[in-house]
Amino acid sequence: MTLYLRKTTGEVHDGTKRIGHRCDRCAGTGQFVTMVLNGKPTGPGGICFRCEGKGYQTPEDEKRNEAYDELSAARACAGDLR
Ligand SMILES: [Zn+2]
Repeated sequence: MTLYLRKTTGEVHDGTKRIGHRCDRCAGTGQFVTMVLNGKPTGPGGICFRCEGKGYQTPEDEKRNEAYDELSAARACAGDLR
């Protein structure tokens, strides 16, 4: 399967339909990014946990990340209350 990235929108298509969008966490590299140097993502890497190394996020990935973000927010709030 060939994937196409629409650079203007960040949407990823498989030629017929939109299947997701470029992962903002790893800038579409699929590698975990630790910093951006001169506009290029760099770092020791590892698989990006938000897109599981695909470089783009499908609706399923978004769902998982949303749940993860809510959990993080809940933890942060709980921390504030202590
Ligand atoms: Zn990613």
